[in-house]
Amino acid sequence: MRAFYAGFDPLHPPVRICLGAGLRHAVGEELRRLGLSRALVLTTPEQISLGEMLLEALGPLAHALFSRAAMHTPLEVTETALSVAAGADCLVAIGGGSTIGLAKAIALRTDLPQIVLPTTYAGSEATPVLGQTIAGVKETLRSLKVQPEVVLYDPELVVTLPAKLTVTSGLNAMAHAVEALYAQDRNPLSDQLALAGIRIFKDGLPRVFAEPGNLMTREETQFGSWLCGTVLAQVGMALHHKLCHTLGGSFNLPHAETHAIILPHSAAYNAAAAASALAPVAEMFDGSIGGGLYDFAVTLGAPLALKDIGLAENDLDRAADLAVESPYWNPRPIERAGIRELLQQAWEGRRPE
Ligand code: NAD
Repeated sequence: MRAFYAGFDPLHPPVRICLGAGLRHAVGEELRRLGLSRALVLTTPEQISLGEMLLEALGPLAHALFSRAAMHTPLEVTETALSVAAGADCLVAIGGGSTIGLAKAIALRTDLPQIVLPTTYAGSEATPVLGQTIAGVKETLRSLKVQPEVVLYDPELVVTLPAKLTVTSGLNAMAHAVEALYAQDRNPLSDQLALAGIRIFKDGLPRVFAEPGNLMTREETQFGSWLCGTVLAQVGMALHHKLCHTLGGSFNLPHAETHAIILPHSAAYNAAAAASALAPVAEMFDGSIGGGLYDFAVTLGAPLALKDIGLAENDLDRAADLAVESPYWNPRPIERAGIRELLQQAWEGRRPE
């Protein structure tokens, strides 16, 4: 793969990125640096204690805590949060993609600046992309208004991530990077960021799995998460993301697990059509990108089969129909028979050839 080629115009919004243990204690300083003084703190119900910790640490700089962030950013939750946001001058989100999604949804409607502290590897903090659910339908939009202004990666916050979510969230991040390598609008910078991100997770995930409390590996994998999120921001996604959006949006399958299960299959589907773009990754995974990614997932104890995360076999036909409807650009043409077979393999949890 050539490292440089024409068409170099990557998007780089002015975002402040900091990485280091204990950064959650520096949120007050960030507020003062930006001249802000009334922070609305956001969390999920499961992570409310983190929100309470921030609220106490911020003291008079805190406006309120809203702890009802939910997966897929439902409009009803955003509307309730907006009423609590009245009087706040900034948002502080501490959590995974769901909490950051809520901050983005509020920012879209208020222009409030966002300081985010990610606690998973999903990478939403690095993108100007918002997925929100309106009347049961998940819509995705791209706007610089939703790009968080400050990202504080504190490795102590990911230490609490359960082993299963650590692995699936890491594979979710890798999926952004694998798709970025063969994206139609890829550029020389996104290629390098994507390869670096994949390498970090390939080396780091087994180490995090073996020693979840190792802060150096957590820090390294958070850096990987930023790299993989950054490429998601820069280029268009293809078959893998279309399949995951279909399975998440129409069958309510969990986000990170779905990405983890589909990744080896979508990579195998595109392996021949994107052979040269994927060659460095195939090399990292013993020469076979689909089979290699599958074996990697096995060693990490990741979920392998859609049947184990709530999809019924008789949903596969409808899933294939939806996935081929208004398809995203993909290096290999999206053919229904091939997609149906891919879904069958992923449902059964078979190793892709
Ligand atoms: P999540 O934010 O939904 O978190 C899953 C669960 O794990 C929640 O209960 C959460 O409270 C808990 N959790 C998170 N971090 C934890 C930690 N360190 N310790 C203990 N528990 C923790 O999961 P996610 O996979 O990060 O986010 C998924 C959502 O993010 C989806 O809605 C997806 O569409 C969105 N997303 C958006 C983008 C984007 O660019 N717009 C990118 C990636 C994901």
